[in-house]
Amino acid sequence: MSNYSKYIWFDGKFIAFNDAKIHVMSHVIHYGSAVFEGIKCYNTDKGPAIFKLKEHMERLHHSANAFKISIPFSVETLCSAAIDLIKKNEVKDCYLRPVAFYGYDTLGVHPKDCPIQASIATLNWGAYVSKEALAKGAKITISPWKKYKSNAFPESTKAAGPYLNSMLAVQDAKSRGFDEALLLNEDNSIAEGSGQNIFIIKDGIFHTNDKNSNILMGITRSTLFTLIEDMGLKYKIDKISQDELFNADEVFYCGSASEVTPIRQIDDHIINDGKAGKLTLKLQEKYYNVVRGKEAKYFDWLTFTN
Ligand code: PMP
Repeated sequence: MSNYSKYIWFDGKFIAFNDAKIHVMSHVIHYGSAVFEGIKCYNTDKGPAIFKLKEHMERLHHSANAFKISIPFSVETLCSAAIDLIKKNEVKDCYLRPVAFYGYDTLGVHPKDCPIQASIATLNWGAYVSKEALAKGAKITISPWKKYKSNAFPESTKAAGPYLNSMLAVQDAKSRGFDEALLLNEDNSIAEGSGQNIFIIKDGIFHTNDKNSNILMGITRSTLFTLIEDMGLKYKIDKISQDELFNADEVFYCGSASEVTPIRQIDDHIINDGKAGKLTLKLQEKYYNVVRGKEAKYFDWLTFTN
């Protein structure tokens, strides 16, 4: 647990890491009734900056509302808690994990009067897939587990319970020696990774899918739309078939934790001669410059904590 910082923000207070506990009979333990976010803070020349903080806290509220979890803290309160936590923990580069959940009251599935609790932790978390994958590309596999449809859970929400689908997929992928999983929809179109959105590049054009493919509408995904256009390139949004995937010039995953991770192999299909794609690496470099505050044009996306 040494990756975790000293303090955790819990129900409005900053408390020591070891004191941030909940009861084993909490509703969330039994039914996965939590919503969460994954946010990155990067060190910049102007000190630590949280990337797209407000968008993440707004999505947390969106996810919570979809599950009728009424978070007793506003987006603004959660944003300032995150900023204060970074300062208190004296961290520079870190990952932030806000979570809101049903606590302890009843064991029934209906949460009735279960209290709604919320916390934010900061932790040191290096490359999500791996350092090597960021540079050379990841090896992924098509999961035997299908992505659940948006009519089984509210679309584009980050809720704990549904992540068991992602957990099954990534456990299977790792057990077979792959870095990550790729989940397909019932119609065998491409959905997304266990914790990433996917892009393919064909003839210089970027392609990705949308909520019609049962994906989380990633914040990184929409960040990349702007960056792709600002680089003078084009993107299209549509369903992606397996055929298009295997015949792509380049493929990559994106996400707040995964950033821009090139993909060099999908099962036994080798992409781009088994190397990270050139345009992918160009976009990755641009993304790092933006999140690390090297380009003033994008300062609006950064919350400087100092
Ligand atoms: N899809 C899934 C299933 C995810 O868990 C994530 C990570 N939050 C993403 C996509 C990417 O979303 P974002 O760019 O907002 O981090």
